[in-house]
Parts: sequence; C-alpha cells; structure tokens
Amino acid sequence: MAIERTFSIIKPDATRRNLTGAINAVIEKAGLRIVAQKRVQWGPAQAEAFYGVHKERPFFKDLVSFMMSGPIVVQVLEGENAVAKYREVMGATNPANAAPGTIRKEFAESIEANSVHGSDSVDNAKIEIGQNFAGFEIVG
Ligand code: ATP
Ligand code: MG
Repeated sequence: MAIERTFSIIKPDATRRNLTGAINAVIEKAGLRIVAQKRVQWGPAQAEAFYGVHKERPFFKDLVSFMMSGPIVVQVLEGENAVAKYREVMGATNPANAAPGTIRKEFAESIEANSVHGSDSVDNAKIEIGQNFAGFEIVG
C-alpha cells in the first residue's frame, strides 16, 4: 500500500464544542499522522469554492453558511492508504448511519453538522491540499 496524503477539516460544530483534541486523538490512534494543521475561519469565497461541486444540491446554501459559522481546523493527514483510511475513520456522512467508534458516530450532531471532512480520492486530496496549504506548511 502506498503512503498517501489526504485533506481533512474539523468543522465548526466540532470546534464550537472544543473537540479538536478529541478528534485528533482518533486520527492519530488510527495511525494517520497530522503533517499540517491550522485554525482558520472561511468567508463565502472559500466555502463556495470548496463545496462548489454541490452547488446544485438543495442543501448548498445552508452548507456554505454552516462552514462559515465558526472556526475550522484544516489539516493534511499522511499514512498508508490515507484517503480511504480516513473515510473509514470518519464514518458515514449521516451520523445515524455511521459505525460505532467512527468520528461521526461519536461526535457529529447531524448530516450537515457532521464534524469532519475528508477527501474522497487521491486526486481531490491533491487539489484540496493545494487550495489550503503552501508547500512549506506541510512537514512530514
Ligand atoms: P465531506 O465532503 O464533508 O467529507 P461526505 O463526502 O461524506 O462529506 P458529501 O456528499 O460530499 O459527503 O457532502 C458534503 C457535505 O455536505 C457533508 O459532509 C454534509 O456536511 C453536507 N451534506 C451532505 N448531504 C446533506 C444533506 N442531505 N443535508 C444537509 N447537508 C448535507
Ligand atoms: Mg465529500
């Protein structure tokens, strides 16, 4: 298996409840390394660009408002098979369907306020990392 990098966001519902450390503990316990991390707050340009793929979906406006509603923690995670592994560690989009022990099962509030984002492919991970980090901010 290849060493990969994936892009992660700890979403506003989680930072609001002071869960950054608890979520990072789950990430690290799963064998993923946090090789870049910063706390930021997005405006409309960043939130709309990031979730642009969903712009025709009925929940798009709410999703963009939610993502701007408080601080987020953007991260680069590194490890074997990191993209698929982090999707497993996050659990299903809707916490009601997420497996026990996953971040979304343990922490998410709803299908929208679901605590974390993770890239869905290696190609998208590269794009998302490039949108959010300069090369010198990533230290493996
Ligand atoms: P993410 O891209 O954030 O990692 P995901 O890949 O599991 O999540 P997507 O289908 O890409 O799920 O949806 C992106 C985000 O949009 C979800 O994480 C969630 O915050 C929100 N979302 C998805 N479906 C709904 C819905 N039916 N109602 C409200 N919000 C939704
Ligand atoms: Mg997605």
